[in-house]
Amino acid sequence: MKNEETLLVIRRGMNFSQDGPGNRLVVHLQGCNLRCPWCANPESMPPEGIQLRTVPPRFSCAALPAADLAAECLAAKRLFFGGGGVTFTGGEPTLQFPALRTALTQCKAAGIHTAIETNGTHPRLPELFPWIDFLILDCKHYDDAAHRRWTGQGIETVSENLRAAAQDRSQLLVRIPLIHGVNASEDDAHGFARHLRALGADRHPLELLRYHEYGRDKWTQCGWDYTMTDGKVSDEAFCRFAQIMETAGISLTQS
Ligand code: SF4
Repeated sequence: MKNEETLLVIRRGMNFSQDGPGNRLVVHLQGCNLRCPWCANPESMPPEGIQLRTVPPRFSCAALPAADLAAECLAAKRLFFGGGGVTFTGGEPTLQFPALRTALTQCKAAGIHTAIETNGTHPRLPELFPWIDFLILDCKHYDDAAHRRWTGQGIETVSENLRAAAQDRSQLLVRIPLIHGVNASEDDAHGFARHLRALGADRHPLELLRYHEYGRDKWTQCGWDYTMTDGKVSDEAFCRFAQIMETAGISLTQS
């Protein structure tokens, strides 16, 4: 049963250096407030979860007390080598704000390195900064109308949170999912560079994630149309985008 102190978890497992440094327990939380048509985990969108045909029920969504999850992290602490720890991702982890805060505070109190990956839309995100060692913030577009068109929400709160995160002492990684026809042109690269500079986020590392279609089958299993038709970014366009970022003084990284 879900309440304010439980986390609805889609799945969790160990991953090396993909969503934060070192060896990490990556916890995917259920529910997302955006509707990106390229989403690789569409089953994470509904707040109540959705059963995929290819996933056995015992591996599906489960409600876990935040304190139990923190205890699980503590028990796994010896596995967190290379500066690892726990990463909360989604879906959108901040939708489960009170329980996420409890899990983060208890993990921090136990000396566990904490990270979250977020779409940046929660207005209270900065309240969590004291308990986040490594923040991964998605920046899907620099233009409000385009962000609204593609995800269902504008960028105002994302931008405020990115500005606040850029000033915070925590480590920040900005991620742009690069998608042809959405945000991957040369004009877009210049737009992102201006946007990141205006928010003070150009001093932090940036990761470019190229569009892929790993989620296509899952959209079908959810009973929804996969509407992306031409999202792949060519090598040439990717290199040009990266070059524009580097020329703007933004350092690129890859996990
Ligand atoms: S923010 Fe992430 S989880 Fe949410 S719909 Fe977009 S890609 Fe999917």
